[in-house]
Amino acid sequence: MHEQSLISNLIEKIQQLADNEGARVVGAKLRLGALAHISAPHLREHFEQATFGTSLEGLQLEIEELTDIHHAEAQDIILENLQFEASDGQ
Ligand SMILES: [Zn+2]
Repeated sequence: MHEQSLISNLIEKIQQLADNEGARVVGAKLRLGALAHISAPHLREHFEQATFGTSLEGLQLEIEELTDIHHAEAQDIILENLQFEASDGQ
């Protein structure tokens, strides 16, 4: 399913960035393309299901819905930024 592959790609990307950073991800900001054929609440639902029981469970998801169908990434879910858990003590 198209939406399923968008979401698993996204989660894979987040997990990879978290591994590179060596820190736990606590939040992510996404931009949802106008032609991605998934609503923000539906995306959130899938995301929560897919991350349940993983290190990404409970992550704060912020979703901005794009309306420009001519955007180069209009069919994608774009990862804008990640927030990592602040390390306590240096
Ligand atoms: Zn669905």
